[in-house]
Amino acid sequence: MGNLIVECPGCKLKLPSKNLEPCDRYHASGECWQFYGELAAYNMSKNDPAFIHQLAVDAYGAQHSGGVTRNITTAFALIGLYLSIECGYTGRQVQKAHMELAKRRHDWPRFEPPHQTYSLTVFDVLRVEPGKKRDEMLKSWAEDVWKSWEHYHDWVRTICHQWLNR
Ligand SMILES: [Zn+2]
Repeated sequence: MGNLIVECPGCKLKLPSKNLEPCDRYHASGECWQFYGELAAYNMSKNDPAFIHQLAVDAYGAQHSGGVTRNITTAFALIGLYLSIECGYTGRQVQKAHMELAKRRHDWPRFEPPHQTYSLTVFDVLRVEPGKKRDEMLKSWAEDVWKSWEHYHDWVRTICHQWLNR
């Protein structure tokens, strides 16, 4: 024993087992979720008015859809990635858009996650030294996740056009 490997059901990251319960909010292993917690704590420790952490919320959310993850979580993650990556929104602006959408629309579909494996995970972001380089890796991670969800790009664009006038 001692060298059991756990594969995260969302991002497929393989990590040594710590016998953790799976995350109850996202389709994720407890081990992967713990890394997300580390990244969240790091992001929160910065005085960051643009709130880059929203990009981590949305990248992680999209990457861990299915299972216990609610449809609205996946929808908001994809919409957040789109607004940030393709429309240049800051994290704060994405949060406002999410609030608008929550007021207006309530029926979100069940999403079919991408078939291919993701090339980056939360672990790749944490491995980079804190500071500018880590923020850049966070952006690369989010862009990679957004690209992987190409089969929903038109859906996301239509939603944003209809409900946010984007
Ligand atoms: Zn994961």
